[in-house]
Amino acid sequence: MICENLHKVLESIETTRIRYNSREKITLVAVSKYSTQDDILQAYQAGQTIFGENKVQDLSKKSNDLAQYPLHWHFIGTLQENKINALLKIKPQLLHSLHSYRLALALQKRLQNNKMQMHALLQINVSNESTKYGFDVDKAYDMYRKIQESCPNIILQGLMCMGANVVDSGIIEQGFLRVRKIFDKLQKYGATTLSMGMSNDYDIAIKCGSNCVRIGSSIFK
Ligand SMILES: *Cc1c(COP(=O)(O)O)cnc(C)c1O
Repeated sequence: MICENLHKVLESIETTRIRYNSREKITLVAVSKYSTQDDILQAYQAGQTIFGENKVQDLSKKSNDLAQYPLHWHFIGTLQENKINALLKIKPQLLHSLHSYRLALALQKRLQNNKMQMHALLQINVSNESTKYGFDVDKAYDMYRKIQESCPNIILQGLMCMGANVVDSGIIEQGFLRVRKIFDKLQKYGATTLSMGMSNDYDIAIKCGSNCVRIGSSIFK
């Protein structure tokens, strides 16, 4: 079933991409947070290599247990400062969720001490929901530049957001477009990845210019 689900999702991404944004290549991050290793292997055997987890502990366990396979791991969850060292051990390919300046400084310090670099996206709280983490839309551009200047071991490569948790697709779209605008302004500073879109809203996100979707339940249900 996972194989079928994955292919359906890939087809649907492709259809939307061709319709709205055919020059863009879209990366699929298969979010495996509710999945077993066996599920992940099934997805791998069906062609998927990039997986996302939202808890450092789970990421650590799954990436260790599956270390013999050439998988790429992304961290998409809220990173607590006391988990930074554990995350550095895993060396994820991309951190999607750099959500505050304080976290950036803490991460920079550890990276520097360990002589490491990490690729990251700035997380934006587009819906201003207090339950969501991330930079305010109004501050995101300046903070991006500030982190680039003060945190040389963090390689910022774009933006991430979660769509508003509402039924009205117009509101979701407005949020995505606001982030897209910031992304466009940051392209001259090296922003290449715009991570927006989950199972329920990835078609809207792609329409708004997303080139990286994070999809869990539609693949692993
Ligand atoms: C769980 C999660 C996803 C995937 O959500 P689905 O609705 O299962 O596709 C994407 N991004 C983040 C940050 C998540 O926590």
